[in-house]
Amino acid sequence: MRAGDRPVGQRTLVDLAFDAMFVRGFHDRVISFWNEGAERLYGWAREEAIGKVPRDLLGSVYPIPLEEIEDQLSTTGRWEGLIKQQRKDGSPVLVAARWGLQTDAAAKPSAILEINSDVSPSSVVNERLRRSEERFELLVSSVMDYAIFMLDTEGVISSWNTGAQRIKGYSAAEIIGRHFSIFYPPEDIADGKPARELVIAEREGKYEEEGWRLRKDGTRFWASVVITALKDETGQLRGFGKVTRDLTERRLAEERREAEVQAKADRLREYAARMAHLESTKAQFLNIASHELRGPLTVVRGYNSMLQDGSIPAEKIASVASLVEAKLAQMDTLVEQMLEIARIEHERFALNLELFDLRAVAADQLNALAPLAENHQLVMTPGSDRVMVEGDRSRITMVIGNLVDNALKYSPNGGDVTCTVTLDGPWARLAIHDNGIGIRPEHIATLFSRFGRLPTEENISIPGTGLGLYLCREIARRHGGDITVVSEFEKGSEFVLTLPLEQPLGAEGLSSPRGGPVRL
Ligand code: ADP
Repeated sequence: MRAGDRPVGQRTLVDLAFDAMFVRGFHDRVISFWNEGAERLYGWAREEAIGKVPRDLLGSVYPIPLEEIEDQLSTTGRWEGLIKQQRKDGSPVLVAARWGLQTDAAAKPSAILEINSDVSPSSVVNERLRRSEERFELLVSSVMDYAIFMLDTEGVISSWNTGAQRIKGYSAAEIIGRHFSIFYPPEDIADGKPARELVIAEREGKYEEEGWRLRKDGTRFWASVVITALKDETGQLRGFGKVTRDLTERRLAEERREAEVQAKADRLREYAARMAHLESTKAQFLNIASHELRGPLTVVRGYNSMLQDGSIPAEKIASVASLVEAKLAQMDTLVEQMLEIARIEHERFALNLELFDLRAVAADQLNALAPLAENHQLVMTPGSDRVMVEGDRSRITMVIGNLVDNALKYSPNGGDVTCTVTLDGPWARLAIHDNGIGIRPEHIATLFSRFGRLPTEENISIPGTGLGLYLCREIARRHGGDITVVSEFEKGSEFVLTLPLEQPLGAEGLSSPRGGPVRL
C-alpha cells in the first residue's frame, strides 16, 4: 500500500506537516520515523526509508562534514543549513534543514529529528517563474524600436537592450556603470534636469517627456522618454526603468509640415500685403493726381470766367493766355506721366529703339526749355563729338526735360543750369547740374520712389507730382542704364543719366539689378 493511501486514522500529527520530517539514530544514523511530507518530497515510502541511513538513501551532500554538524547538535541541540539531496527518481532537490537533538534519560544524545523543506530552484513554480523571466529578458533585450534599460537609485545604468544600442549607439559593455545624464545635452546637465527627472519619477511613480537627447556620436535625436520608479513590496525604491523612443523622423516630418504651412501663410500674407500696398498706392496715386490736376484747373477756370465777364483788359490778354497755356502744359505733363507709369508697369512695355546723338537731343531739349528759364542760364557744355546711343528717343527726351525742369524748379534763386554730355568708357553720360537748394543726405533714398516728393519747406510752394524721377530712372533702367545723383544741401545737385553706348537690351528692356549701369 502506498503511503498516501493510508487511512487518516493511522496518520500521526506530523504527517499533516507540509515539510519532510524524519527521525534517525544519533549514533547508528538509521531512520526510525518517516512522515508523509518526507514521502512526498523524496518519493520513498515509509517502509522503504525506515532502517536506511539518510546519507545513503538521499545521497546527501552537507555544507560541512556531517561529524561537525553532529558535534554542533550535541553541544547546542540544533543545526540549520542547506543540503543537496536526490529523490528516489534521481532528480536533485535542495532542502533547508532544521534539525533538533533528542536525548535519553541520562541526557545523552539518542536521536536527531530532521525537518527539511524544499527550496530547490527547480521546484515547479520556481522553474516557471525562471522561464518566464528568461523569456521576458529575451523579449526586452531583442526589442529594436525602444531603448529599454534600468538605472539604479542613483541613475547609474545597470542593463541595456538592443534598441538602446541601436538608438543611442553605445554597446552594453560601454554604457553599463555610467550615469544616465550622459544622454543629455550640456545645457540640460547644467540645469540639473536628469536628477530632477528621477526625483519626479520617484515622487509621481513615473516621469514622461519629449526632448532632445544625445547619441554616442554627439548628434541629437528627438526622444520620447518614460522613466518609471521601481519599488519593492515595502515601497522602498530599488531603481528606475527607462524606455526611450527615437521620434526624430516624426519630429522632422512635423517640422517640415509646419514650415510648409508657415511658408504658405507667409506667401499669403505677402500677397495680401502686396495687394493692400497696391490698393493704397493706387488710392494715393489717384488722390495726388486729382489734387495736382485740380490746382491748374482752378487757375484756368478763374481766368476763363474773368475773360467771359470782360474783367481782363485787352493789353493783358496775351500774358494771361500764356499763363493758361503753362497751366494746361502742367496738366498735360501729369496726365502724360500717369499714362507712362501705367505703360511701364505693364508687362508688355516696349521701347521704340533708334540710333541718335544724345548730345544733339540734349541741346534741342535745352533750347525748348529756355523760355521757362526766367532767372536762370541754361548752359550746354561745349563738345563736338557725337555721343551715339540706341534708345527710345522721345522717352530719353522726356527724361532730359524732366531733369532740366527739376534743376530750374529747385533752384528758385536762379543760377546756371549746366548740361554736360560725355563718353565714359562704354557709357554715354549726361549730367544736369544746378546751384539750387540741394538735397539732404537722408532724403536721397526717397527721391526715386513713386510719389517721392521730399517733405521740404520749399516743396510747399514748388509744384510737382513726385512721379518724375521715378519715371526717369525706370526708363533709364529699361535701357540698361541708370540715373544717379550727387547733391549738397543748399549748394546744388547733379543728376547723371548713363546709357550704354552699344546695342542696348532689346525692345523689352530690363532693369539693372543693382541699380547701377549694366552691360549685357
Ligand atoms: P517732383 O514732381 O516733385 O519734382 P520728382 O520725382 O521729379 O518729383 O522729384 C522728387 C523730389 O526730389 C522733388 O519733390 C524734390 O524735392 C527733389 N528734387 C528733384 N530734383 C531736385 C533738384 N534738382 N534739386 C533739389 N531737389 C530736387
